[in-house]
Amino acid sequence: MTAPLITLRDVNKYYGDYHALRGISAEIGAGEFFSLLGPSGCGKTTLLRAIAGFEEISSGVITLSGGDMAGVPPNERPTNMVFQSYAIFPHLTVAQNVGFGLRRAAMSAAEKTRAIGEALDMVGLGQYGSRAAHALSGGQRQRVALARALILKPKVLLLDEPLSALDRKKREEMQVELIKLQRDVGITFILVTHDQEEALVMSDRIAVMFEGEIAQLDDPEVLYRRPNSRRVADFIGVMNFLPGRVQEGSVEVAGLGTAPLETGQMPGGAVSGDCEVGLRPETLSILFEGETTRARETEGVIDEVVYYGDMTYYDVRLDGSAAPVRISMRNVVGREVLAVGARTRVAWDPRAMVVFGA
Ligand code: ATP
Repeated sequence: MTAPLITLRDVNKYYGDYHALRGISAEIGAGEFFSLLGPSGCGKTTLLRAIAGFEEISSGVITLSGGDMAGVPPNERPTNMVFQSYAIFPHLTVAQNVGFGLRRAAMSAAEKTRAIGEALDMVGLGQYGSRAAHALSGGQRQRVALARALILKPKVLLLDEPLSALDRKKREEMQVELIKLQRDVGITFILVTHDQEEALVMSDRIAVMFEGEIAQLDDPEVLYRRPNSRRVADFIGVMNFLPGRVQEGSVEVAGLGTAPLETGQMPGGAVSGDCEVGLRPETLSILFEGETTRARETEGVIDEVVYYGDMTYYDVRLDGSAAPVRISMRNVVGREVLAVGARTRVAWDPRAMVVFGA
């Protein structure tokens, strides 16, 4: 992380008796793309609004650029918030919508026009200034909302589920555009999302929140490969959980046998005795005829096949294991999709395991 631009120290928020934020502490860097990820009701919007100044915190400290934000109203903070794309005014033109952010700015009309043009160029809508906002597509509206927020040159842009109104394809396009835009403008983005894939794709770091607390704060790869609890592991992507037993630096896993274990494979803390072993579906693979592996090999019977076109999910009941494991395989030309009931060999790599206390 770069030098912290935002610090959150033991931030608490009560709504009456309800404890919505429970001792949140974190630092967010200048120029960082930071996401708050969690299920509905975990407090991510409350935290974003607290940073913006729309929500007064009950205790704790929020600083922005080194200054304590207690009592500082939203319009005096170096932040700006982007709401969902429908927060634009349909009866105004694109340029008027973007210029709305400048209505109180002490600028001449010519300066405003130039600033609007720059903001529209930034989001790739340079030619659209005179269009009626109601005639825009969802993705274009989103860009207008972004331009309106960026025109005030904030240090931090706060985005509350900005892409949730878009269909999947548009959303994926806008995700890439947002990453590029953030890199170009170089300011800190804080994104609220409940979509784990979106957070993984876009963020430098992600805070995973449950019930008003940060459960884990890490970069996407660490979060995905080394989740520090079963709950985080389950929330991010797909994870198989197999019952096991840890003994003297190794773990015995039902259906897989005994394998060595390193401390990094217990990200939630050292485990001994009964445990749960997490394995991502792509870290196991089906061995087709003639294929060999340098990793471990076991066998089982295919219980379920889910075909996705580019890949297939196989649920395989391993010999000596009660529950099936999910294995994802990329579909390649010349390789058939196996059928339910087929017997198969399975390769897996002990280094991919993460182990949680039972
Ligand atoms: P979602 O993704 O559904 O928006 P969230 O993680 O953003 O969820 P918040 O909106 O931050 O969650 O709300 C956290 C909790 O605080 C929820 O249980 C919510 O009901 C409660 N809450 C939020 N705002 C208020 C309020 N003004 N008064 C009382 N309770 C509130």
